[in-house]
Amino acid sequence: MQPLYEGKAKRLYTTDDPNVLRMEYKDEATAFNAEKKAEFDNKGKLNKAITLAIYNMLEAKGVKTHLVSDVDEINLNVKIVDILQVEVIVRNIAAGSFCKRVGVEEGICFQQPIVEFSYKSDALGDPLINADYAREMGLATEEESAELKEKALVVNDVLIEFFQQCGMKLVDFKIEFGRTRDTGEIVLADEVSPDTCRLWDLETGKKMDKDRFRQDLGGVMESYAEVLERINKHV
Ligand code: UDP
Repeated sequence: MQPLYEGKAKRLYTTDDPNVLRMEYKDEATAFNAEKKAEFDNKGKLNKAITLAIYNMLEAKGVKTHLVSDVDEINLNVKIVDILQVEVIVRNIAAGSFCKRVGVEEGICFQQPIVEFSYKSDALGDPLINADYAREMGLATEEESAELKEKALVVNDVLIEFFQQCGMKLVDFKIEFGRTRDTGEIVLADEVSPDTCRLWDLETGKKMDKDRFRQDLGGVMESYAEVLERINKHV
């Protein structure tokens, strides 16, 4: 069966239900705008299971997501949504591109979270934008940008507390949102996994996310498996 769409980490397929798509999690990993590539056995399985557990937890806390149902080891059924072409990044601790951009040392804790928008464009390398850009580029109205920020901060609050219980610090993360076709409601879409969140062990500070791949730290899937194991103890 041909996918309807293939991205860097997932494939989307149609289903018998016109309102539902099947999202398949792939084993491929990319970093630095796909300049660095690798394949990791079980990555699809681990990220699917982590996203499923986190989406169920978020839904229980009142956060709406595109999740419909679990399918199998590497597939989830999701509601068809129109993905907003704005990626929302929330940062609690300085890391990654933030440090590079402003010359700040990794690990500095922010007093309040920083919310960033980037334009979802592989060709342009997901450039940093703001609500004015989003408005003028027709990506999101001012009201929608405000809603994205508000929703992202709620997700951040819930995730900080949850990961803390799992013995991990939530350094930063990227999320995406989609508009449902029936009600036009904006819901959380895409994945929430160690590919899209930076997670540090609370006690040792050990990196447990995709930075292990980006920075060649080794033990990438072992860390993802540990993240899943810790999550499963707390859901
Ligand atoms: N991130 C992501 N996809 C992207 C860009 C960033 O999932 O296309 C995540 C990344 O894993 C990290 C957070 O968003 O948890 C902030 O990433 P940053 O802007 O520091 O960029 P990076 O260092 O990944 O280039």
